[in-house]
Amino acid sequence: MLPTTVLLASNNRHKLAEMSKLLAGLPIKLVTPAEVGISIDVPETGATYLENARLKAEAFARRSGLLSLADDSGLEVKALGGWPGVHSARIAGPNSNDAQRRELVLDRLLGKGGSERKARFVSEVVLANSRGVVGQSRGSIEGTIALAPRGEGGFGYDPIFIPNGYDRTFGELSPSVKNAISHRARAIAALRPVLEHLSNKP
Ligand code: IMP
Repeated sequence: MLPTTVLLASNNRHKLAEMSKLLAGLPIKLVTPAEVGISIDVPETGATYLENARLKAEAFARRSGLLSLADDSGLEVKALGGWPGVHSARIAGPNSNDAQRRELVLDRLLGKGGSERKARFVSEVVLANSRGVVGQSRGSIEGTIALAPRGEGGFGYDPIFIPNGYDRTFGELSPSVKNAISHRARAIAALRPVLEHLSNKP
């Protein structure tokens, strides 16, 4: 069977690397916006991960005519009422970097220990064609926030997130371990029945 082309509705090279691994073995040829000559910035105006993932998948599908796969994700810290959640990418201002966002989370947890540092990562993935959504799923992973960043691997909040059952952060664990248990891996696994029967027919 010929692979079906799927456009990743993201310019995030880390998400691309993870998605390529997570989709391996499926009849899918994953392409990037740059590879198909598309450059759009979709404002994440939704109130939920699902709304934002849907906005991104539909915008890229309409523009490209290709099946498009979007992920919207975030970190939720229990003692902070689920903050930063859907705002995870934007908590430290528009020109901030991952390190500054991690520091902000650590600052908000100063003086808190043990179960007060419980957190989870959530990923909502949406697959859309030019007529609308054809599949969606969610994955999450529970863990705790480390006392300080550790490890050079991964991206975003990975160096401060210790998944339950491990004593190292996602920044320290190998990509293969992260890809076996992550929120994104679980969301893609739940979408697998849809991904196995894809068609680019309009
Ligand atoms: P968005 O889904 O592109 O809006 O990004 C959400 C925010 O959560 C960004 O700041 C990411 O760095 C962060 N984030 C999403 N997924 C992960 C992950 O797997 N590890 C670490 N940080 C993540």
